[in-house]
Amino acid sequence: MTAHGIVIAGAGQAGFQTAASLRGGGYTGPITLLGDEPGLPYQRPPLSKAYLEHGADDRLVLRKPHFFAKHGIGIEADCRIDAIDRSRQAVMLADGRRITYDHLVLALGARNRGLSIAGTDLGRVIELRTLAHARHIREQLAAAHRVVIIGGGFIGLEFATAAHKRGCATTIVEAGDRLMARAVCDTISAHYLAAHRQAGVDVRLGAKVSHIIGNAEGRAAGVALADGQTLDADLVLIATGVVPNSELAAAAGLSADNGILVDEILLTGDPAVSAVGDCAAFVHRASGKRIRLESVQNAADQAKYVAARILGSAQPYDTVAWFWSDQYGGKLQIAGLTAGADEQVAHRSINGKGLIVDCFCGSTYLGTESVDAPAEHIAARKLLGLQPPVDKRTITEFEHDLRALAGSFLKNERA
Ligand SMILES: Cc1cc2nc3c(=O)[nH]c(=O)nc-3n(C[C@H](O)[C@H](O)[C@H](O)COP(=O)(O)OP(=O)(O)OC[C@H]3O[C@@H](n4cnc5c(N)ncnc54)[C@H](O)[C@@H]3O)c2cc1C
Repeated sequence: MTAHGIVIAGAGQAGFQTAASLRGGGYTGPITLLGDEPGLPYQRPPLSKAYLEHGADDRLVLRKPHFFAKHGIGIEADCRIDAIDRSRQAVMLADGRRITYDHLVLALGARNRGLSIAGTDLGRVIELRTLAHARHIREQLAAAHRVVIIGGGFIGLEFATAAHKRGCATTIVEAGDRLMARAVCDTISAHYLAAHRQAGVDVRLGAKVSHIIGNAEGRAAGVALADGQTLDADLVLIATGVVPNSELAAAAGLSADNGILVDEILLTGDPAVSAVGDCAAFVHRASGKRIRLESVQNAADQAKYVAARILGSAQPYDTVAWFWSDQYGGKLQIAGLTAGADEQVAHRSINGKGLIVDCFCGSTYLGTESVDAPAEHIAARKLLGLQPPVDKRTITEFEHDLRALAGSFLKNERA
């Protein structure tokens, strides 16, 4: 692989990591990192957490400008890719340029799903995905008194924490019957429901939004619910999940279905095109299910994997998924993919402070969700990485002491 080198489409977490890992791994050809946002690649997780409180844009960037120059990574911001011409191995840019590649890595991320109800175009109706959104939200929050959040997932709950801490009367409207239902078990949902309510956040479950009410100035003044109730608001966040940016790939004839379809080595149907991060739908090795994950771990690990694969590694992609969230109720950490559990065993951490839920499907250990139990989270990740996998019987024998169990495996490995 020489002349044209690697083109990376999307300069977010996965795109940046692909470029950095290629160079770190010894790739000597040209690397071109193309992203349509302004500025350098940055981390998104703080946008719904510390950034809302403190700002500090400079802490968000993944690397300072000299990193890219020093490592010979050609990076272009404000650069939108309009099409992929697979027959000529080139991407077509919105400004008319054409950049050829030997290998193309699609790291296009996802965008907010939005809501098809009246009023979403009013002023003071906000969304959160990008740094530009977060800057706008900080300005709006400074003047807000009553905030309504539509969607009780991670972003909605983290934003609720920040808004409430800033003194705003805060309401979360969630259509489902529990919080974060897509990602956590009911014990953890219940823990966070109690924590948000205890802090003074008004959480409405099973509540459907009818429309957003506007005032004479064209700004949001409230949210109307399907049952006829109205909630006053001078700021409304829509946080109803994301959709993967897979249209470019689909238009180029690559398969896409809730994400760009990739095989066990993260290649699309075209051997010259890989896909990584939020936009990629891959087959999870442990469960055999095709999934798409929206997490820093997934973006970074898939990027590292694809870089290593381009450099010659032949292993299939197989990593332990993990995630975190900061909100009222403590630090939530998830190890493994716990959706589909038919048994949950809740217990306290050894120091008594943390809540831990081990999740199983039959005899298979799926993973552990925990609150303020970082040592148990790390132990769970170690256990999930074992081959053959640790099963329910073994965990039960150790009375769910994941640290002791992980320690015993490590001791055996060393012996
Ligand atoms: C507010 C917020 C909080 C989060 N908190 C957490 C957390 O606590 N823990 C966690 O694990 N994860 C968290 N996440 C998720 C995590 O940030 C994402 O999973 C991760 O950023 C995915 O990386 P990515 O590179 O796949 O996509 P992105 O970071 O979205 O990057 C994709 C990039 O491609 C660009 N792009 C798209 N189309 C084009 C095009 N046609 N041409 C050029 N560029 C294009 C996009 O604009 C974007 O810059 C959070 C996300 C958000 C938004």
